Amino acid sequence: MTARIIDGKALAREVEARALARSEALASRPGGRRPGLAVVLVGEDPASCVYVRNKTRACERAGVASTEYKFPADASQAELLELIGKLNAAPDIDGILVQLPLPDQIDPDAVIAAISPEKDVDGFHMLSAGALLTGRRNEGFRPCTPAGVMKLIESAGVNPEGLEAVVIGRSNIVGKPQAVMLLEAHATVTVVHSRTRNLSEITRRADILVCAAGRPKMVTGEMVKPGAVVIDVGIHRTKDGRLCGDVDQASVEPVAGALTPVPGGVGPMTIAMLIDNTVLSAERRMGAA
Ligand code: NDP
Repeated sequence: MTARIIDGKALAREVEARALARSEALASRPGGRRPGLAVVLVGEDPASCVYVRNKTRACERAGVASTEYKFPADASQAELLELIGKLNAAPDIDGILVQLPLPDQIDPDAVIAAISPEKDVDGFHMLSAGALLTGRRNEGFRPCTPAGVMKLIESAGVNPEGLEAVVIGRSNIVGKPQAVMLLEAHATVTVVHSRTRNLSEITRRADILVCAAGRPKMVTGEMVKPGAVVIDVGIHRTKDGRLCGDVDQASVEPVAGALTPVPGGVGPMTIAMLIDNTVLSAERRMGAA
């Protein structure tokens, strides 16, 4: 068997095209306008700069007006919170994204908590987390990476209902919300992490395996059930400058039924779901949702 490669870039373009139609519909309403996203970057972390550039380009494709706010690496938390307060009050801003990680002097939890829940398009605010956990689909925002993963699984033609799903990783931004979304889709879910014993035994049971450990190529072919859908969330730059994920693609591809590539899998879908959330926020704020 050779895994079908799931084209995250093509799927992301489809999501963006639908977002563009919705943005145009909002702009053409009487007194309407395009959705607005504020992107806040602190410091010059090269990976963060690339992510911000990619997000800005996706906004252009989807008819979302994006504005970048850049701070030097030594900016204070108070300066950042002051900007967030202004963006919370700005009528034409529907979404606020603060690019993580932040420098050590700034507490990311304090920053996320300061973002108005109605503009929390990253879905990291605790009200969004609570809405997800309690199944309130019309409140809060779903975090972009796990939401994108659900669309990738669907695009592989797989309905999670009744299947065994294993999520590697339990972070607040990927692993935990991923587990909740899979549970909501009626999968039987196991979450594994760094203290898990007999990891391979558990991962080999998975019909759906989501890999978000942040460990380059740690998931190898013998850890995968033949025919499984394997979603590679990890993103790492190797010494020779190439990108790789948490999955050892060479050994997993002959075993899995479907597999997301790195790059071109989860990454573009994360950005597409950010755009989707921003348009949703604009629709809610303009009474069109
Ligand atoms: P974190 O470092 O916050 O979490 C990693 C999780 O993996 C932890 O729960 C950790 O367990 C677990 N883990 C680490 N090592 C192992 C191991 N050997 N076996 C089992 N579990 C392990 O990472 P994130 O969730 O933020 O991100 C995960 C990866 O996804 C990273 O590579 C990140 O760059 C990438 N990412 C990609 C995105 C995209 O758009 N493509 C978006 C977000 C993230 P414990 O809790 O016990 O420490």
